[in-house]
Amino acid sequence: MSTPDLLIVGSGLFGLTLADRAAREHGAKVTVIDNRPHIGGNAYSEIDPETGIEVHKYGAHLFHTSNTRVWEYVNEFTSFTNYVHRVYTTHKGIVYPMPINLGTINQFFNAAMTPDEARALIAEQAGEFAGQDPENLNDKGISLIGRPLYEAFIKHYTGKQWQTDPKDLPASIIKRLPVRYTYDNRYFNDTYEGLPTNGYTAWLENMADHPNIEVKLGVDYFDESQPFNKKDVRGQLPVVYTGPVDRYFDYELGDLKWRTIDLESETLETGDFQGTSVMNYADESVPFTRIIEPRHFHPERDYAKDKTIIMREYSRFASREDEPYYPVNSADDRSTLLEYRERAEAEPSTLFGGRLGTYQYLDMHMAIGAALSMADNKLEDLLRR
Ligand code: FAD
Ligand code: UDP
Repeated sequence: MSTPDLLIVGSGLFGLTLADRAAREHGAKVTVIDNRPHIGGNAYSEIDPETGIEVHKYGAHLFHTSNTRVWEYVNEFTSFTNYVHRVYTTHKGIVYPMPINLGTINQFFNAAMTPDEARALIAEQAGEFAGQDPENLNDKGISLIGRPLYEAFIKHYTGKQWQTDPKDLPASIIKRLPVRYTYDNRYFNDTYEGLPTNGYTAWLENMADHPNIEVKLGVDYFDESQPFNKKDVRGQLPVVYTGPVDRYFDYELGDLKWRTIDLESETLETGDFQGTSVMNYADESVPFTRIIEPRHFHPERDYAKDKTIIMREYSRFASREDEPYYPVNSADDRSTLLEYRERAEAEPSTLFGGRLGTYQYLDMHMAIGAALSMADNKLEDLLRR
């Protein structure tokens, strides 16, 4: 292909959405580069050759959204199964439903409370935080579910996941989890939910399947020995950059902190290890946060009945060499980010997007929604430069 009209750095959902819009809506020629050997960023999955089970290589990915535009858009590239995500958690050797709902509450207190009775008990157990809207995760957690439930199900899990005192974490992290005074134990509240029928990779490849889109894998934007590197391209071509924003500027203003996860994978000689896709481990004595059993994401598939895969998930701070997964977002990070943002705005013909480019905890539907907005509001201008 000759010189493209647009270079996209990163073939994750943000980059692929922009590539699709540029090619299909604007007729632009697009080159997408990615330093990994595969398309799709963290949503990528592959079929395990031994068992035939689809494994989410970078951790479990569940698609859910209430945004009708995003739902209609993703359905242009894949259909979705009717999978509904449910999570269980083990505390002191007993399994409870998550997120906290009336089932969890009654099981924990060995009771048969009505919704009103449970609400009254929680309000009492929230003590001084009842009815308040605290800003840190610890106090917010107690205000939502009272101290005993918080200490059983949230405090240590969060400690393992974030390795930070919950008092130093923002309340927004815990607001992701609903608390329900019904027996509804769906993990997400969203209108639409499901898993791509033919797997994530088929979906992601469909997004890039257009004569105007060329994907080049194993190409790093900062490797000057490779085509389409920053030094050659900067100011010469319109670029959408979806890699880490601090890396782009050579960490000149400091490193933004991330957490990463280590997945310890094992194939077992049983057709079912835990009876569900995700089992959290709430206690401090268990070093991992959860076990994923991917076969349960697709009960409709005819997977072999004598083998299963499990993945234990361990969480830790990331170094520059690790996969950056979750932005830590401390007060220091936020002020560093503001400075990087100013620099990013001044970059010639370059837009920053996605989870890494904006240092934001974005679910897939949010990354796609943000990319569609960028396409609506900024793409035409960028392509004219
Ligand atoms: P990414 O998918 O990270 O893509 C960025 C791409 O850019 C990567 O492929 C990277 O290799 C490439 N890149 C970076 N630097 C360079 C460079 N210098 N040169 C070339 N290429 C480069 N969302 C949900 O909706 N549901 C879930 O259940 C869910 N679970 C998750 C679990 C985990 C463990 C993680 C980490 C994320 C999860 N997400 C989930 C979020 C989801 O992965 C993101 O929303 C989505 O990946 C965002 O896409 P993106 O394009 O912004 O970033
Ligand atoms: N969380 C918890 N116990 C659980 C599940 C979640 O304490 O059993 C907390 C934890 O702090 C986590 C947050 O709730 O970071 C949000 O949970 P979610 O499942 O959305 O996080 P993810 O696994 O997507 O990072």
